[in-house]
Amino acid sequence: MPDIIHLLPDNVANQIAAGEVVQRPASAVKELLENAIDAGATQIKLIIKDAGKTLIQINDNGCGMSETDARLSFERHATSKIKNASDLFNIRTMGFRGEALASIAAIAQVELKTKRIDDNIGTNIFIEGSEVISQEACQCSEGTSISVKNLFYNVPARRNFLKSNAVETSHILNEFYRVALPFHNIAFDMYHNNSEMHRLPASSLMQRIINIFGNNYNQRLLAVNAETSICKISGYVGKAEHSKKTKGEQFFFVNNRFIKNAYLNHAVVTAFEELLPENSYPSYFLFIDIDTKEIDINIHPTKTEIKFLDEKSIYAIIKAAAKQSLGKFSIDSIDFDIEKSIDILPLKKGEMVKPPTIKINPDYNPFEKNKKDISFSSSGFINKTNKDNWEKIYPTDENIQLKIDHSEKSREDKNSVDTDKNNIIPEVKRKQFIQVNAAYIITQLKTGIMIVDQQNAHEKILFEHFIAHLNNNNFQIKQQQLFPEVIEFNASDSMLIKEIIHDIKAIGFDIDEFGPSSYVINGIPADLQECNTKQILENLLEQYKITGNVPTDEKNIFIAKALAKSLSIKHGKILQQEEMQNLIDQLFAFPSPDKTADGKNTFYIIPFSEMEKKLH
Ligand code: ADP
Ligand code: MG
Repeated sequence: MPDIIHLLPDNVANQIAAGEVVQRPASAVKELLENAIDAGATQIKLIIKDAGKTLIQINDNGCGMSETDARLSFERHATSKIKNASDLFNIRTMGFRGEALASIAAIAQVELKTKRIDDNIGTNIFIEGSEVISQEACQCSEGTSISVKNLFYNVPARRNFLKSNAVETSHILNEFYRVALPFHNIAFDMYHNNSEMHRLPASSLMQRIINIFGNNYNQRLLAVNAETSICKISGYVGKAEHSKKTKGEQFFFVNNRFIKNAYLNHAVVTAFEELLPENSYPSYFLFIDIDTKEIDINIHPTKTEIKFLDEKSIYAIIKAAAKQSLGKFSIDSIDFDIEKSIDILPLKKGEMVKPPTIKINPDYNPFEKNKKDISFSSSGFINKTNKDNWEKIYPTDENIQLKIDHSEKSREDKNSVDTDKNNIIPEVKRKQFIQVNAAYIITQLKTGIMIVDQQNAHEKILFEHFIAHLNNNNFQIKQQQLFPEVIEFNASDSMLIKEIIHDIKAIGFDIDEFGPSSYVINGIPADLQECNTKQILENLLEQYKITGNVPTDEKNIFIAKALAKSLSIKHGKILQQEEMQNLIDQLFAFPSPDKTADGKNTFYIIPFSEMEKKLH
């Protein structure tokens, strides 16, 4: 029998490696930006076309390469950054694995132009699917320019897997920020489809943050500084009231390398303690400077995860440093609201939980609207003739009567029966609801006890409401805003908004682009009058990011779900009797009240028979 093992040809091996290093255009952008940084560039220009699917080009004014190095740079395991294994524990450069260029060249058409400062002439190389098409001398400026065209042109499965241009561009922007933030003393420019998205001059870290995320970040951030024998922490944390609905603005850098680390994230979040509203994420830009011997970078192909030898101590240091900054803030600025919300705990009996001084989740009470019966009944939603549903499950007067008659032994004593009836029947008639844990509503049915999840139930009601509106195309009733509202988004969110702007308009927002990353809202859907417009749009975006491409025929469902999620009353909201009654009546007006659009249960019934079994 012949031997069957053989070495894979280079192009195949490179393509396999590319699978790990280059998942999408953003990964190539990251690798190329890092190469420019390692080359000592002070000016870096990133140009992309069609979200990097057609072109990713990076020009730098770094050290450039010799003719031989230019050719070698595309070989696998070819690097100028380390020489032996011990160097792995003393890495100060962004790259060291020597596989990025080889991987990228295996799955794209790449052109490299490079020249060192002392050379008169530069080198120009074309390489396609790992095959060198040409290499010649050329005139070019000092530094390196690399163009990556038609990424995944020879891996159709990968190309088809790519998301929409808006989603891919937002990934690219995120990678761009992850490099541009720590290297704020390098100037960066970024262009997408010939329009400038960012012009970032060399500046301080705060100025870089402002240039990327907007002027108002100046007031939103608190400086963090701590120096210990293990590591040095610097950077900023966002004030609690500016926490976000998405995790987008959370950055850890270790020796200027962006990393993901859930454990250290936990350290920051716990530093906020009760200051942080539910389901919100604090912004932070934290830099950990640490001896390279204390970390292992070589545990992940994209180098976004690293190992700390002493993670526990770093956790404690970060938490203490963030806490100190947050504490300093409340004393310095004498923010009575924040202090009060800490002081009043624990609450007095019957007192409502006061939400932290955060602008999200305003005291919007959807039930007040319903009381006035504006949109819900006029749209035919609450079909009062559909009483069957709930009458089937609630106890009727006869049930109660029967029970009393049956259980009442001294039938002669009519008076006592009457008093009993008066005590019990009216109560049940009003259908007593008990709210527990500010989250669940408990009520008695014919056959048992029903526990309703207030958030899920309301999400279901709103979803049905919105989907009917959308499907009937009668969402267009715009309410003109007295003062148009200008809402600013970061560049990546703004791209996504652009992609779903038609749908946003379809549900009744009168929204238009207003500058590179802001939008003006002239009118909003009548149904959403009392809501925070920015919050609704942010929630739509958040859902869109999670869902990715939404097929056209599912757009309505997607929007209805996102609106319902964002506007539903949440756990923690204290409800009045009337509100609970209203909620349950509305829920059971639907033919299938038991599940939300996402399949979450809205209620749960414990039958009396089961209780009996358990108790006797
Ligand atoms: P690594 O960065 O891990 O060394 P790469 O495949 O990214 O591996 O790059 C291979 C080598 O090519 C680098 O070590 C560096 O010497 C050279 N190189 C890549 N990009 C540039 C650039 N923009 N300027 C100068 N040299 C570069
Ligand atoms: Mg590299």
